[in-house]
Amino acid sequence: MRPREETEAPALALRLEELKRRAGECIEASSEPLGELSRAIWSRPELAYEERQAHAALTRFFAGRPAWAVQPRYKLETAFRADWAWAPDGGPPGLHLGFLCEYDALPGIGHACGHNLIAEVGAAAALGLKGALESLAPDGPLRAPAVKITVLGTPAEEDGGGKIDLIKAGAFDGLDVVFMAHPSQEDAAYLPDVAEHDVTVKYYGKASHAAAYPWEGVNALDAAVLAYNNLSLLRQQMKPTWRVHGIIKNGGVKPNIIPSYAELEFYLRAPSLRELSILTEKAEKCFKAAALATGCEVELQGGANDYYNVLPNKSLEKAYIENGKKLGVEFISDDNLNGLSGSTDFGNVTFVVPGIHPYFYIGSDALNHTEQYTTAAGSKEAQFYALRTAKALAMTALDVIFKPDLLEKVREDFRIVKLNEEGHLNAPEHGKGSVLGIGAACASH
Ligand SMILES: [Zn+2]
Ligand SMILES: [Zn+2]
Repeated sequence: MRPREETEAPALALRLEELKRRAGECIEASSEPLGELSRAIWSRPELAYEERQAHAALTRFFAGRPAWAVQPRYKLETAFRADWAWAPDGGPPGLHLGFLCEYDALPGIGHACGHNLIAEVGAAAALGLKGALESLAPDGPLRAPAVKITVLGTPAEEDGGGKIDLIKAGAFDGLDVVFMAHPSQEDAAYLPDVAEHDVTVKYYGKASHAAAYPWEGVNALDAAVLAYNNLSLLRQQMKPTWRVHGIIKNGGVKPNIIPSYAELEFYLRAPSLRELSILTEKAEKCFKAAALATGCEVELQGGANDYYNVLPNKSLEKAYIENGKKLGVEFISDDNLNGLSGSTDFGNVTFVVPGIHPYFYIGSDALNHTEQYTTAAGSKEAQFYALRTAKALAMTALDVIFKPDLLEKVREDFRIVKLNEEGHLNAPEHGKGSVLGIGAACASH
């Protein structure tokens, strides 16, 4: 007689596929309210930490559905949390899955990054997963641990880093795996989002009449210009994967007054925290050298939150690609990855809990952060792609729940990639600690 597992395995796989279909049907059944939710967020764009109407729309959405426990203003004024627990055996939840919603917009051009669609996809995937689990017969063949689903509304991705605030406040504690997806020009399970450090540079000089007694002045604008040029020269020695971009925010008030104050704002980016720490050190030398040359005082002010690079999770990505392909998603191949992406506070999440942040096509070739992309993110056409992405995320979550070996691999990937990353940070040449204080931050996780 053949062993029991061998005869049962194909039947269970079939049952899991049925469950995935059920998740998709549940998402389709809610396509209208989901589309309205997305449209409501899109039509009233709000900046980071000010997403009050989006917060109200999302909390209303979950409060109006059965069995969701909603916590508005969760740890941040415009963050929220909605929980649903599934315990077929009455026991405590064994697995805690999170779906993240972003909903902030950009100044001047509205939802040019399509975060209204991120919110919709997060909500849709959670509804789909809940619907699929509810359809399971308690005494059916598919056995799973009790599951808790948390939808986390994470404000301020474009500016500030709301997820970093939420991590610090403990909002991600206890989560086993998190899911979200970001609109783009193509479908990719992973793009190398880079680490980012923002810095504001303030030069203090001395005002004087620029014609009568220029020698009495100390020119802060000269320091700013020198710093800008120092960084431009540094570019020749930078790795192709590093990015430095900045503006002069304040360059004086009148040509006949030697500027006593000038201010620069720079973003520094690199593919890993280790490289970002090296780049930051080099950039700071450029800023300080300009002060020395002009006789100005300099003050360097780092942003409140550094964005970490997004750590890959190959096992989750593989499952997501398999599910996406079943829905007709065409993924770009690794060869077509055109180098770098931007930066996201989801990077910091990947240092705390295993997760996936795939990108999805929304029916337009427009580029993110353009007015054309704003139009595309609010279009009817984008709805098909957003819902398809939500289905693939819900299906991947079902894999995590019903395939214990997958969950184990996801955890192992997370552990190894993070260890590797932290090993680099603690390498002897950086024993003195990074200029960002990143070494200390990571060692504490
Ligand atoms: Zn963006
Ligand atoms: Zn974005």
